[in-house]
Amino acid sequence: MWHSKSIEDISKTLNTNIKTGLSNSCASKLLNENGKNELTEGSKRSLIKLIFDQINNILVYILILTGIISFFLGEPEESIIIFIVIILNATIGIIQENKAEKSLEALKNLSSPKAIVKRDNKIIEISSKDLVVGDIIILDAGRIIPADIRFFECVNLKVDESALTGESLPTEKNTNIISNNESIPIADRKNIGYMSTIVTYGRGEGIVVSTGMNTKIGKIASFLNNSKNELTPLQKKLNILGKNIGILTIIICIIIMIVGLIQGNKLFDIFFIAISLAVAAIPEGLSTIVAIVLALGVQKMIKKNAIIRKLSSVETLGSVNIICSDKTGTLTVNKMTVIEYFINNSKFDAREFKNDDNTKKLFIRSMTLCNDASYSNDEEVGDPTEIALLKFAGKNIENDTFKRIREIPFDSDRKLMTTVNNIHDIFYSFTKGALDNLLNLCDKISIKGEIVELTDDIRNNILNTAEEMANSALRTLAFAYKEIINLTKDNYENNLIFLGMVGMIDPPRKEVKQSIEIAKRSGIKTIMITGDHKNTAFAIGKELNIANDISETMLGSEIDKLTDDELNNKIKNVTIFARVSPEHKVKIVRALKSVGNIVSMTGDGVNDAPSLKMADVGIAMGITGTDVCKNASDIILTDDNFKTIITAVEEGRNIFNNIKKSIIFLLTCNLGEILTIFISILFKFPVPLSPIHLLWINLITDSLPALSLGVDTYDKNIMNNKPRKGNKNLISKSNIIKLILNGFIIGIVSITSFLTRYKKVNLIYAQSMAFIVLSFSQLFLSLSIRSEKEYLFKIGLFSNMKLIYSILLGVIIQIILIKIPSFNSFFNTQNLSTNDWIISIILSLIPFIISELLKAFTHKK
Ligand code: ATP
Repeated sequence: MWHSKSIEDISKTLNTNIKTGLSNSCASKLLNENGKNELTEGSKRSLIKLIFDQINNILVYILILTGIISFFLGEPEESIIIFIVIILNATIGIIQENKAEKSLEALKNLSSPKAIVKRDNKIIEISSKDLVVGDIIILDAGRIIPADIRFFECVNLKVDESALTGESLPTEKNTNIISNNESIPIADRKNIGYMSTIVTYGRGEGIVVSTGMNTKIGKIASFLNNSKNELTPLQKKLNILGKNIGILTIIICIIIMIVGLIQGNKLFDIFFIAISLAVAAIPEGLSTIVAIVLALGVQKMIKKNAIIRKLSSVETLGSVNIICSDKTGTLTVNKMTVIEYFINNSKFDAREFKNDDNTKKLFIRSMTLCNDASYSNDEEVGDPTEIALLKFAGKNIENDTFKRIREIPFDSDRKLMTTVNNIHDIFYSFTKGALDNLLNLCDKISIKGEIVELTDDIRNNILNTAEEMANSALRTLAFAYKEIINLTKDNYENNLIFLGMVGMIDPPRKEVKQSIEIAKRSGIKTIMITGDHKNTAFAIGKELNIANDISETMLGSEIDKLTDDELNNKIKNVTIFARVSPEHKVKIVRALKSVGNIVSMTGDGVNDAPSLKMADVGIAMGITGTDVCKNASDIILTDDNFKTIITAVEEGRNIFNNIKKSIIFLLTCNLGEILTIFISILFKFPVPLSPIHLLWINLITDSLPALSLGVDTYDKNIMNNKPRKGNKNLISKSNIIKLILNGFIIGIVSITSFLTRYKKVNLIYAQSMAFIVLSFSQLFLSLSIRSEKEYLFKIGLFSNMKLIYSILLGVIIQIILIKIPSFNSFFNTQNLSTNDWIISIILSLIPFIISELLKAFTHKK
């Protein structure tokens, strides 16, 4: 077993070398032989199960029953059509579900973690899926361990193994060999890291010993079948609506049947009417269409650099009114360059650096030895702040000569990092970090190679210089060192000797200013949250128009002094939070939410997961983000760019808007149908449409326009509106009034066409005309539903060609059903005279025209 073997033995067994890693060719050979490092999904749903899932719904049961009863009542054509429609509908459903599932799978691939590996003596980043046994990997805080590994280096390494052991406290790992005992519990195998557990602190290196399904987690079957698709709040509401309509319909149908029978009508006629009503009332396509539109929207968002992890966030995005954003990398480009430095109690331009005294030598050592980044001409690996330091140090990098013996990793609470290095057999600690934190740990300063007392004058000079640098938007980082006498007993971070500091520029991203402007216009406030210095943050914030006055900034330490109520009161006027730690982020989100905001929060660090989870929309950085924070997020930005958040909000609003159009369209159509049937029952007319006509219109002719409305062109003005209130109903009162009116008019024109022909010609002819008028009027009306306020000619008849094609297709299908004799017997239809075709088209245009004219009222407002 790996835990009881020495690293040398393991390297030999696995044919690897911990210094250079595997060669690329060997790795790809192994990958081919043994397959990808991934957990294979649980068995996919079988075709039978897929079909059953489609059929398993009240409506389909009613339809099947209708089909069977029709058959026995001597209407075989009717029942054939019903079964054709059921099969068609199920097929479309299966195809679409499959499509949605595929796009979700693609999402999973996109958000799968990356691993840092050593191959061919180079450190590179690869997809965790491409890891093979024998790979040497490097782990740091926030990373999900990508395979089972045996550690050969652990620096304060702590791992959260709760996924595997249930133990909530992180386990401290080490490299010690454990006696060969098979029964030793997982939790006690301290030198092994298990796939899917999380590094919460420190750093480590290890050899991959098993991958994919051979890992411990791979063997635990329960982990696998967790790919259940969750429903969004809207989908849940629609499901409830659908169910309620279904139940209500069944009750009404039963009442109609009982009353009809008591009145002495024939069973068949009554049954026929009841079924017509049921089919007319139930919005069959609704949930499928919403699911498809959401899936398509998610795919579109991927192209715009936002990976949606939780479908419901697409809806929530539309109501977000506060975006809390990190500064570094999201608002700024995260390309740091040192442009000023302070040493020997004076400030200099970075271009004029000469390594000509002992203080400067140590200054450069502190920059390069206390540094985890690496860079050569073609590759930069690591934190941009640290890369900037390496670039500043130029060729003076001695990391291979002066080995790192100990380290205390950087964390965003302490804002410090320390290493202990062996320099010609003397141990030195080097600390770098935020000036305010570091200066408090120093009591001496090195000036031109001499160590002197850190007097108040010098201290003030340092603080003033830092302030100056921060005022010109520079990010400052300070350095100190000391000699360590006793490696085990000494505190590495006290009584330090101050060396100097640097000021780095990290310019704002060009496109961000405009995005912040757009956000403002659309009722969204942008708040900057940063670990950086207050003045640096304000200087950048001012440049980006986030803040106008320094009074709009608040420090993390100030948050600590406020009670919850005080913070809730003050938070309205704050646009920049500086020197904050991850715990502050949680407090900020909580306060913003408690005063009624819908908040999105960005994060990248190990400890950002709680604030991301607490926010209404948690957004993780795709490039700099840790695995942990990606796992806790609703959305991942693949380009870390603030602009993408605004684009995602815009997409979210548009997707929601389009879904609303589809729903309004489908409900209007259903209402039109119900009224047509209901009015005829009321006035004791024969039923103008048979169930198959209604079924055909609902499931076939209507579904394409509804889908096309769902993917309608986006409203250019959507970002001029305020965010949708979170608790507001999807369909407003004015929408409902319009919906009823439009449904009513559709009902009236359909009945009119039926009645005029019924007396003059015959029942089938009149039904055929009503069939045409009902379907055409719905198809035409879909054009007007594209915008609530704008006239169609203004948004352009041809600006949604998908809708035009859907309407054309619908019209052609209807013409075929009426004109071609072989379909006539099936659909119980009859060809119309040219005159009646013209009249049908004119009647069918009425609902559309009235709906357009009604826009005059809303338009003016
Ligand atoms: P944001 O939250 O906007 O991304 P940030 O990146 O500036 O802000 P942190 O990474 O938490 O926030 O950094 C906070 C401070 O810690 C910095 O201003 C800097 O002084 C110090 N710091 C940053 N990176 C390091 C590092 N690698 N080593 C030591 N100190 C660092």
